[in-house]
Amino acid sequence: MALVEGEYEFTCDECNGDGSVQVIRATDEDSDEAELVWDRCDDCRGQGTVTVDDEVAAEKIAYGQTPIRTPAGS
Ligand SMILES: [Zn+2]
Repeated sequence: MALVEGEYEFTCDECNGDGSVQVIRATDEDSDEAELVWDRCDDCRGQGTVTVDDEVAAEKIAYGQTPIRTPAGS
């Protein structure tokens, strides 16, 4: 499917739009213990959305994602 050229905005699939993700971090260098902590999502820089060009957008749509903003404004 050919898309209109331009920028498309998607909900970040890494953090599901939260802007933060749970990561496993070691609590102590000397032990194997780890804890789940919330960290800012690197994919969207904490925005919860990502903006991509039409080529990447076509791939995302093929994987079942729906853009929340398109160049056509629809
Ligand atoms: Zn994200």
